[in-house]
Amino acid sequence: MGNKALINIDYTYDFVADDGRLTCGKPGQAIEDKLVSLTKDFIKNGDYVVFAIDVHDEGDEFHPETKLYPPHNIRGTKGRDLYGSLQAVYEESRHLDHVHYLDKTRYSAFAGTDLEIKLRERGITEVHLVGVCTDICVLHTAVDAYNKGFKVIVYKDGVASFDQTGHEWSLRHFESSIGAEVR
Ligand code: ZN
Repeated sequence: MGNKALINIDYTYDFVADDGRLTCGKPGQAIEDKLVSLTKDFIKNGDYVVFAIDVHDEGDEFHPETKLYPPHNIRGTKGRDLYGSLQAVYEESRHLDHVHYLDKTRYSAFAGTDLEIKLRERGITEVHLVGVCTDICVLHTAVDAYNKGFKVIVYKDGVASFDQTGHEWSLRHFESSIGAEVR
């Protein structure tokens, strides 16, 4: 295991499929091959791989997203399955010590989770980000990683959004404001 980790963010049915509840649609589907091949490479190399996946309870009156979005990634529904061939990659590798599935309830994979402690105890200093949406969950995770002192790498063909303007703004922001490498 090296000093880097891949954080796979929210690549689920609800966020990617044509009939997902809060979908990025075609731009999300277009990154599948790149996202899956990166995931396989990290797993094969023994680098740490985290599936950081949104989870909600329907109608949760205390959750800020309840007012903002239609219900999505509801616990126990197929909307929370990983999209396309990523689900099989996860199922084949989930038994490995360096593959970690993380429930998250906010945009950032660091918010209210054990992600930081998992990275620190493994001596990981570099986080590589793929998934959706570039300008929401990927952005908030990248900003938190930056604030915590991690080097951030974002794969431009491995992230997507329903909002092309937001996607492009975020890629510029990663480079210009948080010193990330956009690869
Ligand atoms: Zn959500």
